[in-house]
Amino acid sequence: MRIWDNIFVQGSSAQIKTIAAELGFAKCGIVPAHRLNTGAERLREWLNRGYHGEMGWMDRPEHDRADPRTVMPQARSVIVLATNYFTPHVHPDDAPAGKISRYAWGDDYHDVLREKMRLLLGRMKGEWPEINGRICVDTAPIMEKEWAVGAGLGWIGKHSNLITKDVGSWVFLSELLLDVELEYDEKIVEDHCGTCTACLDSCPTSAIVEPYVVDARKCISYATIELRDERLPDKISENLNGWLYGCDICQEVCPWNRFEKPTEEARFEPRQGETSLPLDRIDTMEHAEYVERFRGSAMKRTKLGGLKRNARHLRGG
Ligand code: SF4
Repeated sequence: MRIWDNIFVQGSSAQIKTIAAELGFAKCGIVPAHRLNTGAERLREWLNRGYHGEMGWMDRPEHDRADPRTVMPQARSVIVLATNYFTPHVHPDDAPAGKISRYAWGDDYHDVLREKMRLLLGRMKGEWPEINGRICVDTAPIMEKEWAVGAGLGWIGKHSNLITKDVGSWVFLSELLLDVELEYDEKIVEDHCGTCTACLDSCPTSAIVEPYVVDARKCISYATIELRDERLPDKISENLNGWLYGCDICQEVCPWNRFEKPTEEARFEPRQGETSLPLDRIDTMEHAEYVERFRGSAMKRTKLGGLKRNARHLRGG
């Protein structure tokens, strides 16, 4: 039996957290890789209600999203990381422009996080060459918010985003699955939403249908990013509140974001200084300009047609 088949070197978890902090991760927690039964039940109920809309990839039977061993059968541990993406900019409210969700202001977080995770795994392999890891950045079928809670990073707020006590909710999550056992975090952060209902009260489309439950079909973010229909639903279209791509209202009103802090990651600064885009620029944008402007941006997801549709609706069309 290799040493890795039993328990990892004492103190290794603390060392991993030190490396993660050195690489700029805001938070790091480590938990055993097992099936998240409670989370799985919640997800099943959410899917059964159809709240995932057209995000069919969330309900693929071959993916047991609650069990990370679906992604890496030999996984024994899950290292969960939070990366702060807050930059102290606001949306200008001068020219007719469409607001971009904060998470998409900078370079595509998939690329940034993947690079940081590779560095983390590389540093760990430098210390412990026998380990094997699988990097998960949003695209793998992993219930990352549930893992983040289990690893003590924060709690899932009534708006269904993870909230940390240190930097609020402007965080990206990523996971590193490892084929070794480690020393695990056991301290859970309690739910600190209390009696607050600011996010439920502020959502212009009432997408938070009950505390902790979002019906994606009513969500401006889902509609402007994920929905491929030619027209947005009327309730969304009439309540866009200036959002061209995504929506941050439920996080902007959250009192826990008074603890937001500027990230040290320069790649999350707004590309070309833009937190909004002029609608007439979208209207006339040709494919070549689109490709150039959004290369390396998370905003590619909605494609040019989606942006034009959203801009048209913002104009009332
Ligand atoms: S706005 Fe209030 S209820 Fe909503 S997530 Fe934040 S603290 Fe919780």
